[in-house]
Amino acid sequence: MSEESTEETRYTTDAAMLAVAAEEARAGLAEGGIPIGAALFTRDGRLLGRGHNKRVQDDDPAMHAETDAFHNAGRQRSYRDTVMVTTLSPCWYCSGLVRQFGIGRVVVGDDRSFLGGQDWLAEHGVEVTVVNDPALIDLMSGWIAANPALWNEDIGQD
Ligand SMILES: [Zn+2]
Repeated sequence: MSEESTEETRYTTDAAMLAVAAEEARAGLAEGGIPIGAALFTRDGRLLGRGHNKRVQDDDPAMHAETDAFHNAGRQRSYRDTVMVTTLSPCWYCSGLVRQFGIGRVVVGDDRSFLGGQDWLAEHGVEVTVVNDPALIDLMSGWIAANPALWNEDIGQD
């Protein structure tokens, strides 16, 4: 996304951070893609990178919302004090990314439509917060019901 925030901008609540991820999800939907968004923040709420699933748009099965946000954040010296905020419970691939780089905290917008590796992350010391925002649950569950084949492709189940 070209709309980088200024360094002074702080997203100081989970709701404010999740709103950025939700904007990404809706941007993905508007592009004809899978509506999952994510953003990586510092612990004190500075936005490092944001992104969304680009399987359809870029023909890229590796670009999940979390990996896109991670990619757009660029190199960080340490991830311990970062927060990955995602509209949907992170799949095993993205949960692996969180463990690999030691991301300290994950905020999940919706674990009703899909439950990924969040419990595994919590067992290994990652601080996991589940919001279960009704609008995000509606968005994702509705999209999955309308696009079952594409969804199963994205989560590697066919
Ligand atoms: Zn993923």
